[in-house]
Amino acid sequence: MNEAREHLIALAGNPNCGKTTLFNAITGARQHVGNYPGITVEKKEGICRANGSLIRLVDLPGTYSLTAYSMEEIVARDFLVQDRPRAVINIVDASNLERNLYLTIQLMELGIPLLVALNMIDMAASRGMEINSGELSRRLRIPVIPTVARTGKGKDELLGAAADLAEKNPEWEPLYISYGPDIDPALDRMELEIVAAKFLTGLIPARWTALKYLECDEEVIKKGREIDPRLSAKLEETGEQVSQHLQKTLDSYPEAIIADHRYGFISALLKEGVVKQSHKADRLFFSDQLDRVLTNRFLGPVIMMLILYGVYQFTFSYSKIPVGWMEAGFSALGNFADSALPEGPLKSLIISGIIFGVGGVLGFVPLIVFMFLAIALLEDTGYLARVAYMLDRVFRTFGLHGSSVMAYIISGGIAGGCAVPGVLATRTLRSPRERIATLLTAPFMNCGAKLPVFAMLIAAFFASKEPQVMFLLTILSWTAALLIAKLIRSTILRGPSTPFLLELPPYRLPTFKGLLIHTWERTWQYIRKAGTVILAISILFWALMSFPGLPEVEKRIYDQERASIMAETPEQLRPYLAEGKAPDAAGKEFQDYRARLQEVDFEQAQATLRNSIAGRIGTALTSVTKLTGFDWRTNVALLSGFAAKEIIISTMGTAYSLGRSKRGEEIPLGERLARDPGWSPLKAFSLIVFIMLYAPCIATITCIIRESGAWKWGVFSMVFNTAIAFIFSALVYRGGLWLGLG
Ligand code: GDP
Ligand code: MG
Repeated sequence: MNEAREHLIALAGNPNCGKTTLFNAITGARQHVGNYPGITVEKKEGICRANGSLIRLVDLPGTYSLTAYSMEEIVARDFLVQDRPRAVINIVDASNLERNLYLTIQLMELGIPLLVALNMIDMAASRGMEINSGELSRRLRIPVIPTVARTGKGKDELLGAAADLAEKNPEWEPLYISYGPDIDPALDRMELEIVAAKFLTGLIPARWTALKYLECDEEVIKKGREIDPRLSAKLEETGEQVSQHLQKTLDSYPEAIIADHRYGFISALLKEGVVKQSHKADRLFFSDQLDRVLTNRFLGPVIMMLILYGVYQFTFSYSKIPVGWMEAGFSALGNFADSALPEGPLKSLIISGIIFGVGGVLGFVPLIVFMFLAIALLEDTGYLARVAYMLDRVFRTFGLHGSSVMAYIISGGIAGGCAVPGVLATRTLRSPRERIATLLTAPFMNCGAKLPVFAMLIAAFFASKEPQVMFLLTILSWTAALLIAKLIRSTILRGPSTPFLLELPPYRLPTFKGLLIHTWERTWQYIRKAGTVILAISILFWALMSFPGLPEVEKRIYDQERASIMAETPEQLRPYLAEGKAPDAAGKEFQDYRARLQEVDFEQAQATLRNSIAGRIGTALTSVTKLTGFDWRTNVALLSGFAAKEIIISTMGTAYSLGRSKRGEEIPLGERLARDPGWSPLKAFSLIVFIMLYAPCIATITCIIRESGAWKWGVFSMVFNTAIAFIFSALVYRGGLWLGLG
């Protein structure tokens, strides 16, 4: 006997309706995050119990519709149709009922067993709205349970009702909506044809498929052409006829008429007795009042700049303390390994490859935590959507779309994002040209991986002006991305812009738990990347930098030099020098001898590195990088950055660690560079510009290829971006020298 029944239940709803909050409240710690197979839309799953059965809960991506306008919609729809959950909990934002029911209606048209979580009733109440959930339930003929996801109110009742529904396992029962005299007859005809041909009827209601043909749903049509080309052609032709007819009679198109009828159905549904609006509603809501100021034409952009600037201040000032702890910790670990391990390649691997490599990256985790915390705050309050709204006009000027803002911001438009999700965020863009232009330029933003490199260089060369320089870099990356987008859109991707539609969700006070979860998810992503890819590449580069080593002849020259210094040293100091320890009463004499020995060690280490494989490549490249001021070590680090930008810093760390005298005291990388006469603020800045613009990391390139569906865009972004980076960085360096700034 199978005693623990397990039911699959999905959570569906518009973006920002409180889906994730409810999911977290229900599943607590018993959840895991992955991706939908084959694509990188996030998939959250959790387990819970209700009414004696086990429930596997899946948090679907937030969508406004079930038509294939975006990847999220396709994912949500495919999951419902193919995985066929026993029940769907549709989360509805009660304070935005009409708009949210649009998805509910489509779910009901699909016929899947459904219940509604009427969420944010607290918010609706604060806006003077009172919703009669019993009446709504009677009219929809499905359970409607009021909830407040933030406090967990109503969640047990909701889960109980969902388990009951799943237990009953009812047939799918599609809701029938009339689409008026122009569409209904065509729909009926198509439905008959679909049923007769048994076209997808095992999965999807026939009328629903017909509707998708009328809505010109690319995914359904594509599938139709594969399965039954003749029928598909016929359905497409009917769709075309309806479309032409509507154009003539109503000067409209099927999608618009279909949406009109759905909204008509909803407004009839809500007429009298469902929503009670008290007098409070006549006044401007708190949110609207806030918007009067925050998105004001003149004040809005100023406030936006101030808020973005505040994010940097917050990130830089508060993270300093834990960054210091991390650095001290790894440095102590390095010293411990230094004294505990015997000399040899293994020791070198552990200290220079592993500890130094990973430490250099993990040391910046606190900074990233603070940055993400600030971004999560902007996102969860709803302010980030205002940023997108205000920047829309600007974006249009550059041949992009209002929604491009999101991709830019996620990629690091507010420094600290990641181009991988940024590239994926372009899925909300409908026009392929705008989309490709956005995903090609989003990697110019300052992602969280470039940040540690910038932070290190800024701390070393522009110490007193950290927030100011970071702010300047953000402005620079935006300017470069927008100008290059314009260039791309007026050359290789020429074409008109599409109109803009963006939601402004009401402002909300985020929960502490929500902020922490959002911050943790992103930070964990970063750490995971640091732990695996970076460690592997760090070791690979340690090998590239250690082998083949110096020829014996040269080694002997250094040994002789050391021997001759030893010979000059007074007898009683020699044992101490050999061991690298100072005698109790170490005088200036001892220090001098030790310094001379260290100098020899240092030269030898440097020669070894230069002779290594990586050193040779880096050296060969200096004939070109003369123009940008990069030496061979920088070139080596930049090469490694192709694998992942985080690695630039650990490669530099490894390079300098190998070049450091064995007995010399530990010096942080930034300080080392600042002291190095070969470095200057101008060179540091030229390097920052190069890193900001050059080829995206392998992960991003992979996503660009996948998202654009073409290899050429991946190769393009690698070659084109590196060329752009080189030009800009050479301009900075040569221009700076010309102005006498070097
Ligand atoms: P999702 O996009 O649907 O996953 O929405 P989230 O779960 O991320 O929630 C969006 C915002 O709404 C967060 O700031 C939540 O704290 C807030 N929120 C969620 N549920 C409620 C609720 O019932 N009442 C109120 N006032 N806020 C809520
Ligand atoms: Mg969510």
